[in-house]
Amino acid sequence: MAIQTAVETYKNLINGEWVPSASGETFESVNPARVSDIVGRFQASVEEDVVQAIEAAERAFRIWRYTAPSKRAEIMYKAADLLEAGLEQYAEELTREEGKTLASSRMEVKRSAQTLRYYASEGLNVTGDTLPSDDPTTFVYTRTEPLGVVTVITPWNFPISIPVRKIAPALVTGNTVVFKPASDTPLIALRLVQALHEAGLPAGVINFVTGSASRTGKPLVTHPAVKAVTFTGSTGAGENINRSVRLSTRVQLELGGKNPLIVMDDADMDEAAELTIKGGFELTGQACTGTSRVIVMDSVHDTFVAKLIEKTRTLTVGNGLHKGIEVGPLANASQLKNVLEYIEIGKNEGAELAFGGERLTEGELTDGYYVRPAVFTGVMPKMRIAQEEIFGPVISVIRVASFREAMEVANDVEFGLAAAICTSDPNRMQQFVHSIEAGMVKINRPTTGVAYNAPFGGVKMSSTATYRESGREALEFYTHTKTVYHG
Ligand code: NAD
Repeated sequence: MAIQTAVETYKNLINGEWVPSASGETFESVNPARVSDIVGRFQASVEEDVVQAIEAAERAFRIWRYTAPSKRAEIMYKAADLLEAGLEQYAEELTREEGKTLASSRMEVKRSAQTLRYYASEGLNVTGDTLPSDDPTTFVYTRTEPLGVVTVITPWNFPISIPVRKIAPALVTGNTVVFKPASDTPLIALRLVQALHEAGLPAGVINFVTGSASRTGKPLVTHPAVKAVTFTGSTGAGENINRSVRLSTRVQLELGGKNPLIVMDDADMDEAAELTIKGGFELTGQACTGTSRVIVMDSVHDTFVAKLIEKTRTLTVGNGLHKGIEVGPLANASQLKNVLEYIEIGKNEGAELAFGGERLTEGELTDGYYVRPAVFTGVMPKMRIAQEEIFGPVISVIRVASFREAMEVANDVEFGLAAAICTSDPNRMQQFVHSIEAGMVKINRPTTGVAYNAPFGGVKMSSTATYRESGREALEFYTHTKTVYHG
């Protein structure tokens, strides 16, 4: 049996100093693959810590907003290099803390470095406009300016790539940041902050506080110096934040999904089953863009389901740190409870649990949050398992008679994040693109997987509509336009 090495205690970063919380308390981050393995102790911050962080960010803004864009870019490039230099260590830490496979963690850390570089470059292209003026003695132009202090609140499922796609555009446009990561994954979040700090960000430009939402959330969201809140997480928490923010504070909410994949009768059935598994089970179904509903044409339903189950059966579930593992554990105890509850809900609603869905505890899985990937068939569109976000490795197969019915079912949920279709018919592809209610649309690709330089976001309850994350559009959230009349 492995012996737990000394557990390190990590601190908050406030005004350029690593400091303990005023509470004097810490909490533990544990490995969901083996819960007796404690990854680290982190500060159980309270409002006082957050207020100090916000005040430090407010002071730093006075200088950072006027710092040369090229200097800001240099720091981002350096931080990207530091992340890449530590890639193996950080990927392992990410897996140990969150549970995803090492391959997924490597990809996420690499992606985070790419995002830093992308925004280092994009930050140099932030421009204003010159406008035609009716008055020849007045020159009219616009300037794009930073907002001030931005708070960044993030979930555990992409614990470095989500923070970086908020923090990087905020910083390159001249804002300062207070970052509170999810309590399940504070270590990898701290590695990002360390990289930025070591790359030369001046004191107070990025501040890092760990702790529970109940003890830190209020000032993060309502302090008058906070000019923007960017949040990714559950719909419930997003709604709370939306209700609490001040009128003068911008808010960006990236919330849940209930993403469909439509399988048409002209699709390659092997490919369709593989894309379903990739979107639904990779990352243990814990992706906001994960495939959770598969809407299948009647004529190919049985063939597709047989292939899906056959391929699901071969998936290796286990500790993501080990070679050959394809599906890791769920990220925490409440995820496990939630997923097992939905399995029961599905059965009670009358869907057929065609494969999986049981907790796995044999051998070295005893001490972790493992569930065998589950396939439900006979799912009706209005069942709870077809409407509510489960956020786990559970796929609901819904049988339909026509493309039209498939589209109706696909759109008949409150979310609209990602959606995919498997078909070889170019007309269907275009009809799908036009009619699907989703922010990200995939053709013969899994619902998961996004490009760091493309807009990210959804419609309906999946995102607040005003600003997209990622890509160029993201910069708009962190800036405002000042119009100048120069006589
Ligand atoms: P969560 O909502 O429980 O927590 C997210 C973060 O918000 C955490 O850091 C938490 O401490 C903080 N928080 C919660 N309530 C708060 C409040 N009132 N004030 C301030 N901070 C608060 O979400 P989670 O369980 O960590 O993540 C899973 C959820 O995230 C899923 O619903 C998933 O769909 C969603 N998600 C969405 C996207 C997207 O881009 N649309 C991406 C990833 C995850």
